[in-house]
Amino acid sequence: MARRLADNPIMTRLTSARLFAEALGLFPGGVNSPVRAFKGVGGTPIFMEKGEGAWVIDADGNRYVDYVLAYGPHLHGHASPAIIAAISAAAARGTSFGAPGRQENELGRRIRNFIPSMEVMRFVTSGTEAVMSALRVARAATGRDVILKFDGNYHGHSDSMLARAGSGVATLGLPDSPGVSVAVAERTIVVPYNDLVAVREVFARRGSGIAAIIVEPVAGNMGVVAPEGGFLAGLKEIAAKDGALLIFDEVMTGFRVHRGGAQAHYGITPDLTTLGKVIGGGLPVGAYGGREDLMRRVAPEGAVYQAGTLAGNPVVMAAGAAALDLLSDDSLWSRTLSMTEMLASGLEDAARAAGVKVQVPRLGTMLSLFFADRLPRNYDDAKASDAAKYSPFFHEMLEREVSLPPSAFETWFVSTAHEVAEIDHTLRAARAAFEKVANR
Ligand code: PMP
Repeated sequence: MARRLADNPIMTRLTSARLFAEALGLFPGGVNSPVRAFKGVGGTPIFMEKGEGAWVIDADGNRYVDYVLAYGPHLHGHASPAIIAAISAAAARGTSFGAPGRQENELGRRIRNFIPSMEVMRFVTSGTEAVMSALRVARAATGRDVILKFDGNYHGHSDSMLARAGSGVATLGLPDSPGVSVAVAERTIVVPYNDLVAVREVFARRGSGIAAIIVEPVAGNMGVVAPEGGFLAGLKEIAAKDGALLIFDEVMTGFRVHRGGAQAHYGITPDLTTLGKVIGGGLPVGAYGGREDLMRRVAPEGAVYQAGTLAGNPVVMAAGAAALDLLSDDSLWSRTLSMTEMLASGLEDAARAAGVKVQVPRLGTMLSLFFADRLPRNYDDAKASDAAKYSPFFHEMLEREVSLPPSAFETWFVSTAHEVAEIDHTLRAARAAFEKVANR
């Protein structure tokens, strides 16, 4: 439930500060995933203790409307009763067996109903693993080694996907991170998003060696950047012509851009798809799948080896199936789309009233905020936005009980638990936060 801002006591975060001090001694940067450390916005990370629908409550008892939603998985908000019931029931029967279980069929069937191109699939335990495995299948199926990816797209932290190019077309990837094998990175080519000319040039030179094009069909890891008309269709055509595969990484966009993923929204069917986040109902998961002839190459039917001790975990599967069942409710889905639109257009109005130039790209239940004059169409554009304004905006929102991603380049997520009261609360906070940004 939303409360009036006037009810908000002066926030203290002493417990978070104490816990972070301890965590610094235990974990690199005090965190178990880098963005959580608040490096993008400054300040001390907040330790969350509890979630209730659209709200999170921190270790000091402060409440916030949450648009992080664990970076996407909580499509139905925190501690959704139906999902918690499914988790509890499954856990009470035993948490893993290392043997097939009916819950895997239950979730697999639901995923294929929403995304028919996933003719055959395999569950793994993270998005990173899903991508890594899909790339392995693509390399095996084509007998080729090179992968083409797009600048500013994120596909997890496996070696080949951490590679990116500097400026220019078809530059060979260099290790973005120490520890990434140069030999692996050289087999990844990075080109600008939304640039079919660059893709064609790479294929003209290297086409016979390219196993796959992998793309976020709506980019969500540089803020939200939508594909321009014809971009995804162009990728499909170029890949097919030269015998490469097209992989849609829908770890983020799956069940968010559209219930059938970006592939349903744009009507473009990839050869392989990767999923994660939403399909685990908030527990660790990933999946890859697609054309049957490709997926039958995976062991034990085929020779492409991929395995996992906790893959297809029954508790995770039950949570995911409950999440997807809730999605079948058309009116809930369309209400969530209108909440996202209400938030996005309200942010535009609030910024305009304060004289601050912003762009608020949104699609499905994803949105983001760029301090920029025009919509970014690639990573260079996104980086050229005035990201320094995000930090004061973020902190002002936090003081007004709204939790946003602690980075200008992360997507905001809306859940089916966000109602008009939460959006109103957020927009009241945003009006004050934009004023603050304007007066700096
Ligand atoms: N692909 C995309 C598009 C993602 O957004 C992410 C995570 N944000 C991943 C892959 C990696 O998923 P995970 O963090 O579960 O390994």
